[in-house]
Amino acid sequence: MTSLDSRPWVAKIPTDLYIGGDWRTASRPDAIPVQDPATEEVLAQVADASPEDGLAAVDAASAALPGWAATSPRKRSEVLYRAFELMTERREQLAELIVLENGKALTDARGEVAYAAEFFRWYAEEAVRAAGTVQTAPAGTNKIMVLRQPIGVAVLVTPWNFPAAMATRKIGPALAAGCTVVLKPATETPLTALAIVALLEEAGVPPGVVNCLTTRSAGAVVAAMVDDPRVRKLSFTGSTEVGRRLLATAAETVVSCSMELGGNAPFLVLADADLDAAVAGAMVAKMRNGGSACTAANRFYVHAAVEKEFSARLAEAMGALVVGSGLDAGVQVGPLVNESSRDKVEELVSGAVDGGAGVLTGGKAPAGRGWFYPPTVLHEVAPDAAILREEIFGPVAPIVSFDSVDEAIAMANDTEFGLVSYVYAGDLAEGLRVSERLDSGMVGLNRGVVSDPAAPFGGTKQSGVGREGGHEGMLEYLESKYIAVDW
Ligand code: NAP
Repeated sequence: MTSLDSRPWVAKIPTDLYIGGDWRTASRPDAIPVQDPATEEVLAQVADASPEDGLAAVDAASAALPGWAATSPRKRSEVLYRAFELMTERREQLAELIVLENGKALTDARGEVAYAAEFFRWYAEEAVRAAGTVQTAPAGTNKIMVLRQPIGVAVLVTPWNFPAAMATRKIGPALAAGCTVVLKPATETPLTALAIVALLEEAGVPPGVVNCLTTRSAGAVVAAMVDDPRVRKLSFTGSTEVGRRLLATAAETVVSCSMELGGNAPFLVLADADLDAAVAGAMVAKMRNGGSACTAANRFYVHAAVEKEFSARLAEAMGALVVGSGLDAGVQVGPLVNESSRDKVEELVSGAVDGGAGVLTGGKAPAGRGWFYPPTVLHEVAPDAAILREEIFGPVAPIVSFDSVDEAIAMANDTEFGLVSYVYAGDLAEGLRVSERLDSGMVGLNRGVVSDPAAPFGGTKQSGVGREGGHEGMLEYLESKYIAVDW
């Protein structure tokens, strides 16, 4: 019996393009198989949109824009709140769907659905609070009035690692602001996005306000849409490499961009840190989503006085995790999303070991089906190892020791990324001073998770441009219009 036999509802998820409120076949006949990374079983075949389909979606979003922008904020809020309720009611089914196409453990998937739904609730609340400002000009001659208006049609491109949350983190604020959208989910995980789009229709989102395209030609389809002058916003979550290319494309039509890109998070453990808390925090910061998170702790810098004890305790906790198919009871770590992701993790680990690192647990991919890799802890990693410079995106924790806080901060900041950093410190004031000096958009201080729908999520340097979540997240979809007025 396959995982699909006991889940007949998977076959009912729409697999066509969603344009202007209709489910349509793509203009070209190819279909894209969606695979279960644990079994390699084909779950469904989704449509392969062409650039022409992309432009048809822009037509629909553009036609729906005036009506949605003029819809009262209260009504937009109610639609988003209904979407939150529906997602919460269907939490279990959506979580299973995420496991099927992404591979993560069911506990992680349940957490993702709850997190994803919260973006609808948060932006239902923000929709009615898009306040502008009025002030007297310094010269006293007139008033400076600032209105917040929807930016327009937004193209949203999302990755496979959080197929629900990365979509709702964009759709929520866009709809709250009065924008209409075209969503392009990752090819590995389109079913979750399609299920969310169907749910939004049920929640009362009018035709054309949300459109969704799956495609094998992401570059051509997204470029065609961004080149269209009616598109005024591009919000992308994915790798820095693709983000750079999209920024160049968007420059042609001067489209406003929000970019949530890659990370290389340092995790600092100071000499006086509470080691129980630091190990527990490290487990969450490293292992949420099996390590396939942009916020995943990628490098551990531990004070030499506590390095041995911290490493041993982390290795014990990592080695005790249960690896397997995400839907099996008790499993805490699923497979990686595809073969190349697993090959990359293997390569980074063997490079570190060849450079002198010691393996405290894990370190070898198992034989057999599925793209599994065991939770792994490496210590005494050479400071120039590739594993410390590249995003691992898997369950591997490389540890380096340091002697002074200045040295730890210098190593932590020595990267082109700046998404998030973590610090464990016994002295909170010292922890805050270190947090101020870390060059990243977010810091977890004595905490292994920073993601919160109410907080501004985003990075410095090549980790991105703009913020998602919180009050700031909606400003990304609003233009400020200044009216100089004399009354
Ligand atoms: P990716 O390869 O950059 O793909 C992300 C999305 O972009 C997918 O939908 C992909 O479509 C699409 N895409 C690929 N090439 C494109 C192009 N030339 N033009 C337009 N769209 C294109 O990233 P990924 O491997 O899915 O995700 C992992 C990366 O995302 C990691 O670097 C991670 O750190 C980052 N991430 C960042 C955040 C954050 O908030 N900062 C959150 C989650 C993930 P296809 O699937 O069809 O290729």
